Amino acid sequence: MYSARRDGPFQIQRQGSVKSVRFNSRATLIRLGAGALAFILALSAAFNTSGPSRNAALALAGTLLCGLFSWCSAHRSISTLKGALDGATARLRAAAHGDLHTPVVSHLRRDLPDLAGAMDTLFSQVRSDLDDIHSLAMFDPVTGLPNRTSFCRQVEQLLVESVSDDPAALFFLDLDGFKSVNDTLGHAAGDKLLARVAGRLREVLMSQAQTGAASAVLGRFAGDEFTIFLPEVPNSAAAERIARAIHFALGERFDIDGQFVDLGASIGIAYYPEHGNSLPALIRAADIAMYRAKSNGRGRFELFSNALAEEAEGKAELERDLRIALERGEFILQFQPQVDVGSGRVLVAEALVRWAHPDRDLVLPGIFVPAAEESGVIVDLGDWIMDQVCETAARWARMGMDQRLAINISTRELAQADFFARLRSAIARHETPPSALELEISESLAMNMAPRLVDEIADLRRLGIRVAIDDFGTGYSNLARLRDLPIDRVKIDRSVVRDVVTSAEARTICSAIIALIQGLGLDVIVEGVESQGQLDILKVIGCTIFQGFHLARPADERTYLTRFGGTQAVALEA
Ligand code: C2E
Ligand code: CA
Ligand code: CA
Repeated sequence: MYSARRDGPFQIQRQGSVKSVRFNSRATLIRLGAGALAFILALSAAFNTSGPSRNAALALAGTLLCGLFSWCSAHRSISTLKGALDGATARLRAAAHGDLHTPVVSHLRRDLPDLAGAMDTLFSQVRSDLDDIHSLAMFDPVTGLPNRTSFCRQVEQLLVESVSDDPAALFFLDLDGFKSVNDTLGHAAGDKLLARVAGRLREVLMSQAQTGAASAVLGRFAGDEFTIFLPEVPNSAAAERIARAIHFALGERFDIDGQFVDLGASIGIAYYPEHGNSLPALIRAADIAMYRAKSNGRGRFELFSNALAEEAEGKAELERDLRIALERGEFILQFQPQVDVGSGRVLVAEALVRWAHPDRDLVLPGIFVPAAEESGVIVDLGDWIMDQVCETAARWARMGMDQRLAINISTRELAQADFFARLRSAIARHETPPSALELEISESLAMNMAPRLVDEIADLRRLGIRVAIDDFGTGYSNLARLRDLPIDRVKIDRSVVRDVVTSAEARTICSAIIALIQGLGLDVIVEGVESQGQLDILKVIGCTIFQGFHLARPADERTYLTRFGGTQAVALEA
């Protein structure tokens, strides 16, 4: 026999001895649907810490409700249904308030083991997803170290809790030479290297336990920067010992999949509260000290001092002034000739930037170019120089002058992805004949140039632009590398020729370098020739192209053209 009875939201059906329940009407379904929606919203609100957690909560709510709907449509006894439903609803409500840990009630597990099991699985899945989300947000996946946010949070907490009379210390580490590993071996190798560095840093801190390093917080701050916070440092000797241990550990060669990599680190150290009484101030102080360590040469550590702070402030001021000077058009170019000794012909004029400061004597680039490079102002300044040089070279060519104009390119400029596009557009804007231009790239930059840059430079040469290596002999002068680069000329640095008059050894070195470069089929230009004596010796050694105060100091365009703008040969003898 079949009978049916209406009972609230459900319709109870009886078929023989079997009692079953179905949803009573569409209205009930709508009500349940609305309840489900409200439940989803409640649950999402409970986990509203972040997008991914909300998604996880929504997924959980949706899945559970589907389970409930399908379960409700199955045939179950009313009494079982009611108790189990109450238990499941209560548990879900608790989950909506963030409780993902309390087990489901025992009668739900007994009466509806499938639903209870599904809820357990889902809660555990959501717990683990939330854990993943949390750790991804707090840990750097490459090294497994706390990321910047997490590092700062932990240190802030330690500073609040600290009761020690001993100072705390912050180490700011920047790897030396990491960028070139990334450039030459690729990012995957770079990541491996960072993970290995993190491992060695952990080991150092464990091994320096007697200095309190075991309770240190180590973090990956950004890129190739790491930070270490030591909650208590008994004395400065302890901090220095740790810095030395870090240098020792990182100084050992890394083996990355069979490729050997030499690395180092520049370390800045600042004490709390002496050098900064808040974490941001402390980080800034350690960062300033790190910069000093870096500029003193690789693999050093430096302690913060007020003198360093003043210097950093001075730099910041200089940077502001440089930007203003650029806006006000206070930069000018001067020109210095390169002459062929045999013919007395001027081959090239090197464009050199100066700052015509309203209240000071002409400021030379040695004072402001490094600051402009460090701060990035060089990119805009370099654009201005590029524009001026292209305009001037085009004008000189129209005047019938047969001289190239050389432009100095800084590392920072060349690192800009659109550098070559900007150069080409300046050339096009002024209709500069490419053969009227020469690029000067410093030796240190040339020796470490990424393949992409080498290709771009080779393209420029195909256009007719000449390329010179500047300041040769000041860095890691690699003749084999020189042979492989797309270049025309090499400028030997002033330091190489300075003592040729007084030192036989200097003469030997200079003459060997010149012969080797000429042997590669490249032009050699000697820079910084200040006297007739130097010039005489250099001529004997075999160098034919010179630049230096002996011939002419850099001068403004009008002065330069008066003296070197014609076609007549230059008189070289004193
Ligand atoms: P650099 O490219 O090696 O330029 C040659 C420097 O040597 C110039 O200094 C020049 O005045 C100086 N010099 C030339 N002959 C002699 C000499 O006989 N004796 C001595 N003692 N010095 C001589 P300056 O103009 O002060 O430039 C210094 C550096 O600043 C340049 O070295 C270059 O690296 C940078 N620089 C100059 N102009 C620019 C520029 O337009 N852009 C960029 N990025 N850097 C520039
Ligand atoms: Ca130069
Ligand atoms: Ca030079």
